[in-house]
Amino acid sequence: MDLELGDAHRALREVAGAWVDKEVVPHAAAWDRAEAVDRAIVRKLGDMGFLGIEIPEEYGGSGGDALSYCVLLEELGRGDSAVRGIVSVSLGLVAKSIKSYGSEEQKRHWLPRLCAGEALGCFGLTEPETGSDAANLATKAVRDGDGWVLSGTKIFITNGTWAEVAVIFARTGGHGPKGITAFLVPTDTTGFTRTEIKGKLGLRGQATAELVLDGVRVPDSARLGAEGGGFTIAMSALDKGRMGVAAGCVGLARACLEASVRYAREREQFGKPIASYQLVQELIADIAVDVEAARLLAWRVADLVDRGQPFGTAASVAKLFASEAAVKAANNAIQVFGGYGYIDEYPVQKYLRDARVLTLYEGTSQIQKLLIGRALTGVNAFV
Ligand SMILES: Cc1cc2nc3c(=O)[nH]c(=O)nc-3n(C[C@H](O)[C@H](O)[C@H](O)COP(=O)(O)OP(=O)(O)OC[C@H]3O[C@@H](n4cnc5c(N)ncnc54)[C@H](O)[C@@H]3O)c2cc1C
Repeated sequence: MDLELGDAHRALREVAGAWVDKEVVPHAAAWDRAEAVDRAIVRKLGDMGFLGIEIPEEYGGSGGDALSYCVLLEELGRGDSAVRGIVSVSLGLVAKSIKSYGSEEQKRHWLPRLCAGEALGCFGLTEPETGSDAANLATKAVRDGDGWVLSGTKIFITNGTWAEVAVIFARTGGHGPKGITAFLVPTDTTGFTRTEIKGKLGLRGQATAELVLDGVRVPDSARLGAEGGGFTIAMSALDKGRMGVAAGCVGLARACLEASVRYAREREQFGKPIASYQLVQELIADIAVDVEAARLLAWRVADLVDRGQPFGTAASVAKLFASEAAVKAANNAIQVFGGYGYIDEYPVQKYLRDARVLTLYEGTSQIQKLLIGRALTGVNAFV
């Protein structure tokens, strides 16, 4: 694998980096305090083509490959994980699932709007009683004439109160993964209610919601993919999603590194910049090594995706390593900042709060280990 970015990817990194410095970084702290990212960011992301990477131009996308997606998500993650998450879900989980599994009609209806930022998508898999054990979800979809009626509750859904369309995974058949079907449900459908979950530790600006579906009626044309094929769609979305989360973690860790280097050179104790102390350099060096390693793991997944090779286990490895690295990086950054790292005048306390969820969502660290262990041993610890 060529580790040097080519011209197109380098150009994307420069454009995305400059955009993040202008449109995201100056506002991230205020959005965090207000517990609300400015909704106008969605149209701006769309105008830049950032909600259409890897979606073909004929559906309003901006083309590009998995490596482009990683490059973009690293820059967004450096700026604000809440904004990065909006893209991870609406583009990474929703638009890409529609691209891969949608009917021509579904693609023409939803993709141009999602890519332009005229609409947002959310991904409704987790339920109050089934998080890691998603194959046992309880939301039901019952056939009714030529359509379906959906009932159930989804929890912790990113973009939940902002989204125009929700991918809802519901049980249409018997127990287990084969009984699950995916639906594209417009969120203004009668019986669909959404409540924002406030008071999160991090990603405070992001709209995370509980979704309640109470007799929500959709036509059969809202079904995404085959009846009983929903769990495959969810897992394939999450495999690629983990690559994006890993790239976002690299961005967050990079922000920790850049802030720590700057601060260590400016802050003086005992008459010298703290950067001159070896124990402070160790904190910084450890972040730097993790940034490089996590980026290589994320880009390795992108390389496999772009060459059409299996990438699921590599995505688990990258997500596991990068998310744990992001938490460590943020913790180290606070150590470099000392007491100033603990107050919200400086960004590093936000980095730690935002990083903490990265080892939880899109499969916890424990679940990634079980996926890696299953691939290596052939023994499935989930049954
Ligand atoms: C901010 C945020 C945004 C989110 N966004 C979305 C979203 O957009 N869409 C969506 O569908 N979900 C979303 N989630 C949900 C997230 O994916 C789940 O929280 C996650 O999958 C874990 O599920 P759980 O919270 O029910 O924890 P549980 O599954 O109850 O896990 C609790 C603990 O038990 C461990 N554990 C569970 N099973 C095993 C096992 N077999 N072996 C070893 N350890 C195990 C876990 O690793 C964890 O440490 C979001 C969550 C948060 C916090």
